[in-house]
Amino acid sequence: MNFQVQILGSNAAIPAYDRHPTAQVVSIHNKHYLIDCGEGTQMRMNTFHIKKSKIEHIFISHLHGDHIFGLVGLITSYALLKRKKDLHIYAPMGIQEIIDVHLKDYTSLYTFQIHIHIISEVGLIYENHSISIEAFPLEHRIECYGFKFQEKPLQKNIIAEKIEAYSLDFKEIVRAKNGEDIQRDGEIIPNSELTHEARAPKSYAYCTDTIALESILPIISNVDLLYHEATFMHDAVERAAITYHTTTIQAAELAKKAQVKKLIIGHFSAKYKDLEPLLVEARTVFSETELAIEGEVFEL
Ligand SMILES: [Zn+2]
Ligand SMILES: [Zn+2]
Repeated sequence: MNFQVQILGSNAAIPAYDRHPTAQVVSIHNKHYLIDCGEGTQMRMNTFHIKKSKIEHIFISHLHGDHIFGLVGLITSYALLKRKKDLHIYAPMGIQEIIDVHLKDYTSLYTFQIHIHIISEVGLIYENHSISIEAFPLEHRIECYGFKFQEKPLQKNIIAEKIEAYSLDFKEIVRAKNGEDIQRDGEIIPNSELTHEARAPKSYAYCTDTIALESILPIISNVDLLYHEATFMHDAVERAAITYHTTTIQAAELAKKAQVKKLIIGHFSAKYKDLEPLLVEARTVFSETELAIEGEVFEL
C-alpha cells in the first residue's frame, strides 16, 4: 500500500440511496489521513475495515455539516477507547467552537491531546519524511479549501547482487540509495552501477465544495489523481452556480486542462439515484473519469 485513496462517503448534503456524506481515507506509506468527516464516517470505516486508531491527521475542507457531522462522534469514540496518540485537525476558523460546544461535558474523558490547526490561506499545512500536504482556497458559500497530497522523491532502489559484489556496508547502502557514488581508497563506484531509479513521486488533489475554478489549475496540474466534486449534471449548470457547486462537464474540463492522469467525480446531489449518466457525461470531455463509489480504492 504505497499511495491510495478510499472513498467512505460520496453524496452531497443529504444521505440517499445508501450513499453517505463526504469522507475519504488517503493511505500513504502505511499511514492513514482522513479528509472530511461527514455523518456516519466511523460506521463507514467499520464497514470497510479501516483502523480508526491509525488516523492522526484529519483535514476538513469547510464547516458545512455534510463534511463535519461525523467528527464529534469520532472524537468521542477515541476518548471512550482511551486513545493515547495526539490527534491533529486542520480546518478553517470556527472548528474549535464546534468541537467545544459538543464535547464540553466529555473533556474529563480525554486521554489524548487534540491539536487544532486553523487554515487561512494557501500553503503547506503538514509534512513528514514522505509527503507534504498543501491547502488552497476554493470558492463556496463559506470559506473552503482543497488539499494536495504530494509524495516526496523516493530513495533509489539498490540492486541486491551489488551489495555482495562490492561488499557494501550499511552506511554505503544508505549513501547509494541517496544517489551518491561510493568512494574507496582512490576507487569510485558510480551510483548508476549500484542502483535503479525510484518510481516518480505521486500526487493527489482533493477539491470539494466549489464552483469550477480555473485559478486552481497551476496547483492541480499533472496530478496523478484528482477528486473533484460534480454535484450536478450539466443541465443544472445554473443551479450549480447559485449553490457554488460544479457540474460533471465543468469538473471534466478542469481535469482535461490540468492534464491530470485520472479524475474521480463525487459529492453527488441526492436527486440522482442512478449515477451512470453523470459518468457518461463527464467522459464525453475527459475519458479517464471514474465515479466515487463508496468502498472503492483508487491506487495511484
Ligand atoms: Zn458538501
Ligand atoms: Zn458545502
